Amino acid sequence: MSDGPELVIAGAGISGLALAAGLAHAGTPLRVRLLDERPGLGSSGGAITLWPAALAALDRIGVGTEVRAAGHPVGAGTIRSRTGRTLRSLDPARTAAALGESPLAVRRGPLIELLHARIAPGRVAFDSAVHSYERIDGGVRVRTSHGTLDARALVGADGYRSQVARTLHPGLGERYAGYPAWRGLTRVPGLEAVQLWGARQEFGVVPLGDGLAYWFATVREPAEGAAVDELAHLAEAFRGWPEPVARVLAGTDPQAVGRNDVMDRQPLRRWHDGPVVVIGDAAHPMRPHLGQGGCQALVDAALLASLLADGSLEDAFAAFEARRRRTTRRVVVASRAAARAVEAPAAVHRLSALVPDAVLLRALGAISGRRD
Ligand SMILES: Cc1cc2nc3c(=O)[nH]c(=O)nc-3n(C[C@H](O)[C@H](O)[C@H](O)COP(=O)(O)OP(=O)(O)OC[C@H]3O[C@@H](n4cnc5c(N)ncnc54)[C@H](O)[C@@H]3O)c2cc1C
Repeated sequence: MSDGPELVIAGAGISGLALAAGLAHAGTPLRVRLLDERPGLGSSGGAITLWPAALAALDRIGVGTEVRAAGHPVGAGTIRSRTGRTLRSLDPARTAAALGESPLAVRRGPLIELLHARIAPGRVAFDSAVHSYERIDGGVRVRTSHGTLDARALVGADGYRSQVARTLHPGLGERYAGYPAWRGLTRVPGLEAVQLWGARQEFGVVPLGDGLAYWFATVREPAEGAAVDELAHLAEAFRGWPEPVARVLAGTDPQAVGRNDVMDRQPLRRWHDGPVVVIGDAAHPMRPHLGQGGCQALVDAALLASLLADGSLEDAFAAFEARRRRTTRRVVVASRAAARAVEAPAAVHRLSALVPDAVLLRALGAISGRRD
């Protein structure tokens, strides 16, 4: 193990790269190796909204300024019914004051590249899938698509299908949530951030600046039902919905549309076992409606990087789980509640509009606001 990596990170997505960037920023002298099953640096999903807690995490790993420069502040947040009726419109200044700053929309590609640029060259091995691991004297033996790799510790940052989580908890169950989520990028000038709810469907749009915006959609339908033409399928599912849905779909590059079946995975009894720990979606996958999965992954990465800079690997893993379990559980539960809100009948949507903005902002601040 003397010349090999001391710390293997499975997955070079948001959480894996942010952890490695955080370790580099802290000057931690660990030899780190990231393994990713993809052929190269990449990220599906177009763009992402980062809430202030995540921006604070990026500041802690030294990349907050660059990410803000690459992104676009999310202005007014409006929720409308499928008939176009405004259910809520959050004032941008009030939202920023309640959360500590404005949420930021950023393309996933530049975010991933900015994190990757903070890591020493050659640390990421692509085309390298992690299959499982076993504990050995002094560390862990990682089984990969290329054989085995011994290290002192392993971090599973390999997303909600995590093989590290599945080795930690064999037989981990998951269930289809009842709908896929689609995402895409569109070129339509003058859009504002909006979510439209109705008929157990949702369509959201978030501007990225310069006439570019990203959108997401959910529709109740069977799993694994990929359409030949996803855009035509969505145009049909959202026929008759208010503006800007039709324009957004018409302005979308068909090659840039992603579709994932949304799954509910059984919660993990524990996130760590001696020299192994899971972070991000591998530890706490959640429904996408609050836009929190990537944010919580960044908060995880920044905290674990700082704990690793201060103490032994195994103590850091135990402290990490103790510090993050409760908060992320709350976010998982809140994200599921948001899914139920989207799917509620129109009368419930109208009633939910009576909840004062201050109450909503307090709840959002508790899971996604800046704390420093
Ligand atoms: C429709 C939708 C909208 C969303 N919007 C937002 C949003 O606005 N804001 C937000 O914060 N979050 C959002 N999310 C959630 C966010 O995308 C995830 O929570 C986030 O990507 C999790 O990061 P991660 O690093 O834990 O996992 P991932 O991003 O999934 O990265 C995992 C990495 O591990 C690699 N990998 C997987 N398996 C293996 C293996 N066996 N061996 C080696 N490598 C492996 C993958 O190739 C990937 O690079 C959204 C999700 C959806 C579905």
